[in-house]
Amino acid sequence: MLLWPLPATDTITTMRIPVCTAPAIGAYLVATIAFGAVSLDGTQVTPDVVRFDRTTPVTITARTSGSKPTQVQFAAADGTTLTMRDDGQDGDAAANDGIYTVQISANLAVGGLQDADVFRKHLGFVDVYEGATRTFHGFDAVAGVDPAIGEVAIADDGVQVQHSNHVVNIVDPATFANGPTADFRPLIQRFYQLFPDSVDFIDIVFATRNAANRYHFSVRNAVSGIGSSNFNNTAIYGSGGRLLGISVFPTSTYFDAGQEAHSHEIGHQWINFLPQASLSIGTPHWPLSSLASGLMGFSIPGSGAGGDYSCRLTSIPTGVQLTAFSGARSFSDLDLYLMGPEVRGAGPITTCGRTSRRR
Ligand SMILES: [Zn+2]
Repeated sequence: MLLWPLPATDTITTMRIPVCTAPAIGAYLVATIAFGAVSLDGTQVTPDVVRFDRTTPVTITARTSGSKPTQVQFAAADGTTLTMRDDGQDGDAAANDGIYTVQISANLAVGGLQDADVFRKHLGFVDVYEGATRTFHGFDAVAGVDPAIGEVAIADDGVQVQHSNHVVNIVDPATFANGPTADFRPLIQRFYQLFPDSVDFIDIVFATRNAANRYHFSVRNAVSGIGSSNFNNTAIYGSGGRLLGISVFPTSTYFDAGQEAHSHEIGHQWINFLPQASLSIGTPHWPLSSLASGLMGFSIPGSGAGGDYSCRLTSIPTGVQLTAFSGARSFSDLDLYLMGPEVRGAGPITTCGRTSRRR
């Protein structure tokens, strides 16, 4: 279930860097660079949702404040580098207002979609330069929609609320003005007034692009033996006892319920609360291990962000070796065992040369 509020402002200052490739330890980092005199307050793709049959250009803007950057570029995913301009030309709305603009072709925005893109394609990176130094490197994405899917029926629920089968739009400026860590209880309570205790998880997706990463928090836990206590805070959210947890997506760039990242966020409902030193050093993800090549990855030292460990550990007669891996991730049996959902007595699990037993 998705809440899609409609606040007025947005920013994003994040980046993804493929740090290394297998067989070395791999990471796909989401982080922020903020050490220049220029502040990049946010980016925007217009329109945010692009029909596959669109022929007119798509506009990308980057909103800056502070000092004037030397140059702002858009490093498109196809390898081309485009100048973003703030001179009132080529689609830039106003000269010298700190908002830099570039227009890209509709084909670049939604053409050549790969399976891994699902419906949200990585367009490229916004790069801010101060002198010769790149002080910001942040990616942007656009959601594409296939017209063959057809129109979705939308029900009007009254005062600034509407919904389709899987999405609820709620206009709630008071809540969303407080940003990604706002107190979402009033919003969720409003949702439950309309849809009493109808879901296990709620995604809160900002229509705007804040400079913050997605995150998950639990509302209720009834699973024992995973290092987390049992608790039930459903009442304060207006749930009659069913709601398990909430995932927050401060920027729509990071939301696609078909992506692995969405399953990763739900995984935070159950990992990693284990007190064993060998596992707790990886909190909130996994330590570097055979577990880390699954959906939860490993915690990047320092930031704790989820890193993509593009290796598998394979047993060989003389020990263990790293094997490159770039396929789709999933929760392993051992993930599920340590998270709680795996069933008791289903047989042994072998990982990294060790054998454990399912409960
Ligand atoms: Zn995570």
